[in-house]
This record gives sequence, structure tokens and C-alpha cells, in this order.
Amino acid sequence: MTARPHAYVGRFAPSPTGSLHLGSLLAAVGSFVDARHHGGRWLVRMEDLDTTRVIPGCADEMLRTLETFALHWDGAVEYQSTRTQHYRQALEELRARNLTFECSCTRQDRSPRGAYPGTCRAGPRHAGPTATRFLVEGGRIDFEDRIQGACSFELGQLGDVVVRRRDGVFAYQLAVVVDDALQGVTQVVRGADLLDNTPWQLTLQRALRLPAPGYAHLPLVVEARGDKLAKSRRSLALQPAAAGLLLHQVLTLLGQNPPDKLKLELPQSILTWATEHWRPQAMAGVREVPAPS
Ligand code: GLU
Repeated sequence: MTARPHAYVGRFAPSPTGSLHLGSLLAAVGSFVDARHHGGRWLVRMEDLDTTRVIPGCADEMLRTLETFALHWDGAVEYQSTRTQHYRQALEELRARNLTFECSCTRQDRSPRGAYPGTCRAGPRHAGPTATRFLVEGGRIDFEDRIQGACSFELGQLGDVVVRRRDGVFAYQLAVVVDDALQGVTQVVRGADLLDNTPWQLTLQRALRLPAPGYAHLPLVVEARGDKLAKSRRSLALQPAAAGLLLHQVLTLLGQNPPDKLKLELPQSILTWATEHWRPQAMAGVREVPAPS
């Protein structure tokens, strides 16, 4: 672990579209502790490309919350909104290799379920603004997720993914692949809601000849009935006094069995305990965990 100073680079990449909630705190803690356990760096990247959803002030609030939880990052925080030249370059590269096409389909043109059926592959169906899609050929993609184990996806069932939206905004799938590579990220640790995005990202990495990081998808926090986390649970109490309890809760959800008395410790000490005792294998194959009542 000491041979190469930055053999491990991890990251937390929230979208500043709402306050951190239990689920995002879990992703932050899981990626942080995994990085520190491996003696690695931990970066924070604000995924603020979707200008229609970004809330002013939200990124700063998130950073203050991370600090409250002693989740101290390395280096400067990157903002995707300042990095569009990199996404444009990547898009040009895909275009030059005939791996993209323009798509005029609107939501009305599409069935709500199922993969994009390739409608505009031979050219946009309608006049007017288009999105750019990445051409995804069929075939299987297999990868080993450090928590979820062996994963296998049929690319044809995923469909051609949007890399630039019709309003001109570069899409998450493209930006995440470019930034993980340019920032030297070696391990992506994030929520299991993104597991089925991974095959697209692996395919884009191959097309752009970028190195593929390792992946570990943490269990997703859901309501007891398996529903998406309720809105009412979507903002965290920011009082430092509650930080210990919340960190303890998150470590419990991550299967780490933190001792009871840890609740009363300062965030810093709780994270030190978690880093020393980190056992990702305790989550093996777990896709969802119910939020504490
Ligand atoms: N920005 C994404 C989100 O907040 C996470 C991206 C990632 O970790 O790859 O859901």
C-alpha cells in the first residue's frame, strides 16, 4: 500500500440538487472509509451540470455538512460546471468514431419503460432540437463489483444512452466517465441505484480508451416497504450533536456493527473506528437496506 502513494483514489460525487440525506450520507461514509482504509485519497466532485435541477447554495451547504461529519476531502472540490470543455472533447472523440447519433425523440415518442429502441439511429425522425446518443451495440458486459459480486448485463437491453441532452447539457454518463478518468479515480464506491448505469460507463470508457476504475456498490437505503426513501427523511439534522448518532446509524446500515458507545463519540473518532474495522464483505450482495424507523 505504500509502494505507490496514490494507488487508491476514491471520490464522492453528489448532485447539489437537494440537501444530503441518509442515503447520500451513507454513500459519502462508505466511499470515505473505504478510501481511508486503503490509505487512499478521497475527492469530492460536485455534479452540477443539470442547471435545471441545481439549487443555488446547495453545494456549499453539502460541503459544510461533510465537514460537520468529519468527512474531510483531499485537494480542491471539482465542479463539473467548470469542466465542460473536457466533456465536449470526449463527445467530439465519440463523434469522430461514428459512435454517436442525433436523436429527436421526445418523451412522448417513447414508451415509458424499456430501452431506447434505436429509433433515430439512421437519422433524427423529426426536425428541431436533438439530443446526442452513444451507440450501444449488443453483447454482454461482465464485471466484478467488490460488494455486489459478479455482475452481468445485456447491453442491448440497456439501449443507446444520451450523452448530451437536447437542451445542450452534457449528460451524467459522459461526464462521470471523463471526470473519474481525469481525476485519476481508481475506485468508485457509490449507491446500488447506480449499479445498472455501470455497464454504460464501462462501455463509454472502452470507447474513449479510458482506464476503468474498480466498482463497489453500497446498499441503497429504502423505506421498510422497499419504497424510495421518503421526502420527509431527505434532509439531515446538521447539528454536530446529531452527527454521532447519524454516523452510527449509517455504519449499522453498512453492516459494520459499531459498538453502542461509539454513538457518543465525536465524528472524527467514529470514522477512525470505522476505518480500522472496515469490512465491506459484511455487505456482500446486499442491494437494499431499510431505513431505521
Ligand atoms: N451524482 C450522482 C448522484 O448524486 C452520483 C454519481 C456517481 O457516484 O457516479 O446520484
